Amino acid sequence: MFEDKQGGLTPITNLGEFSLIEKLTKDFPSFHTETLKGVGDDAAVIKLGEGKVQLISTDLLLEGIHFDLRYVPLRHLGYKAVAVNVSDICAMNGKPYGITVSIGISNRFTVEALEALYEGIRLACEKYRVELLGGDTSSSRQGLVISVSAYGEGAENTTTYRNGAKKHDLICVSGDLGAAYAGLLVLEREKAVFLKDPNMQPDLTTYGYAIGRQLKPEARTDVIGLLENLGVLPTSMMDISDGLASELHHICHQSKCGAFIYARNIPIDYLTSRIAGELEISPYTFALNGGEDYELVFTISLKDYEKLKGIEGLHIIGHITDEPGRVQMELKGGSVVDVEAQGWTHF
Ligand code: ADP
Ligand code: MG
Repeated sequence: MFEDKQGGLTPITNLGEFSLIEKLTKDFPSFHTETLKGVGDDAAVIKLGEGKVQLISTDLLLEGIHFDLRYVPLRHLGYKAVAVNVSDICAMNGKPYGITVSIGISNRFTVEALEALYEGIRLACEKYRVELLGGDTSSSRQGLVISVSAYGEGAENTTTYRNGAKKHDLICVSGDLGAAYAGLLVLEREKAVFLKDPNMQPDLTTYGYAIGRQLKPEARTDVIGLLENLGVLPTSMMDISDGLASELHHICHQSKCGAFIYARNIPIDYLTSRIAGELEISPYTFALNGGEDYELVFTISLKDYEKLKGIEGLHIIGHITDEPGRVQMELKGGSVVDVEAQGWTHF
């Protein structure tokens, strides 16, 4: 399967995103013992001394791939570009302190449009208390390109990696899942209607929560604070950018373990279920494969169960097993299925 080479060369479609990254980055040397983590987690971790670490994460957003300016307001886009990077700092149990922002712009954009983008960036800086440290500006042939890097700080002994989950640990998620993807599908549906008949004005009022989750996600800095107050240090943690299934596979792959989750424990908002019903898709598909919720998924050791039990907004959805790489889910009816992950499959 997938052995089709073009004149001896391998099309990138032969590899999934994660195998491609692994292939490209595996032979790089490490020169500095201060680099505690390079490629492979939500952020890189660099030792600073006195038990402190610096966290660095970067993300690239491309028009037409990650966003569609026909329904994404530039202000929201600016906000989101910052929030998703801050989210990666949270995923390491760190505190964000600054960002750099690089943009590629075509002459299609006006000064006012870019000011709107930066207004969103500024709002997010205010919300997360991060400083704009710099960036770069270039022209682009087509469309808008935004790359944001976030810098944060943490402590060496409280940094949470993807590789720390152990058998019997409990798997937890914050907030609710699938709403961002439900919001995206509603926006796409309305766009299709609008393109057919520009006089049709969409009525999106009853979809507000899901659309908001898609257009203006928040990084869960509050959950990091909550865990600290509860005295719970997760054994592993990630943010949910690609969907719960993909993230659980990352944790299992890196922690050399398996996961067992219960569908009935996955937090799904009522509106997400309603939209799933309208579109005749399972709401679990939204939660598992939708992505862009920017909630946190983390594991805790059993001894911390009492501290976390019943805390509003945190949900225990399953436990870690010793079957490497296997993610299973018990459906509401009691049958158990293997959960595959998108992003691990091909481009
Ligand atoms: P996230 O979804 O948390 O932002 P990604 O899946 O984008 O993480 O990336 C996973 C890891 O691979 C990260 O450590 C990231 O820095 C690294 N990575 C991704 N793309 C590249 C690349 N082109 N070159 C080097 N490292 C990369
Ligand atoms: Mg991440």
